[in-house]
Amino acid sequence: MAVFDEEEVFEQRIATALEGESGGECRQLLEELFGRYRGQRRLLDRLVRISDGFQSAERQRSQNSLTRYEQQIRQLEKIVRISDHYQKMLFDLNRNLEQASNSDPLTGLPNRRYMTGRLKEAVAEAERHPERGFALMLADIDRFKSINDTFGHAVGDEVLKGVAGAMTTVLREYDVCARWGGEEFLLLFPGCSPAAMHLVAERLLHTVRQTPRPRDLADGLTISIGHTMFRPGESIDDTLQRADAAMYRAKGLGRDRAVGL
Ligand code: GH3
Ligand code: MG
Ligand code: MG
Repeated sequence: MAVFDEEEVFEQRIATALEGESGGECRQLLEELFGRYRGQRRLLDRLVRISDGFQSAERQRSQNSLTRYEQQIRQLEKIVRISDHYQKMLFDLNRNLEQASNSDPLTGLPNRRYMTGRLKEAVAEAERHPERGFALMLADIDRFKSINDTFGHAVGDEVLKGVAGAMTTVLREYDVCARWGGEEFLLLFPGCSPAAMHLVAERLLHTVRQTPRPRDLADGLTISIGHTMFRPGESIDDTLQRADAAMYRAKGLGRDRAVGL
């Protein structure tokens, strides 16, 4: 209120001086006016400096927040990448463990554990749909002990791998050949007829005869095969025993042949 009064008095003095003739009074008023103008400019300059400072501090603050935010995003991305990496490692580890627990390390074929699971599934399927029967085949390498005895266990292992690899070349995509025991293989043929089994068995016998084998192997490299169809209502052990009996009959008949029961 005091400043307003002062301004009013000052303006009054200017008006009076402009009406009158006094040059001295006008100069003094002009100087006062300049003084006030300089004072106000200084005030304004200060205000502008304060406002600039405030704005730059604000800019700095938001710049810092942005940098911090970007750093946090980068850290989060890193954590996500690490977690993805570990998840993939766990997934691979799981898959490898599962593969290892289901396969035979020497031949790479499915092992007895895996085949037992597949047999259960096959029985359940055949019980539900009797028209979708399956056949089992036991194939045993002939006189394998003498191969070991003559050429050594390491050569015996190579022969086992060779026979395993050769037999799988004869199979269809959905047939399974597992290492059932030492030199004995169990084969599962879903949806296979007895007539087809004879053909497959002959092809297997032929393929094994052609398998590369240690030189000087007296009687060649052969297998004996017993095969049979699953009969709905029976247990899988009954089927396996029949395949085993058929295989021993093939051995008794001179080996290197297939018998179906
Ligand atoms: P048959 O014609 O009656 O089947 O005679 P065989 O000599 O093949 O049968 P036998 O059961 O007398 O011998 C099987 C041999 O297989 C005995 C065992 O030492 C050998 N064997 C089992 N597993 C392995 C293996 O992983 N590697 C090697 N090298 N030999 C094995
Ligand atoms: Mg044998
Ligand atoms: Mg045997």
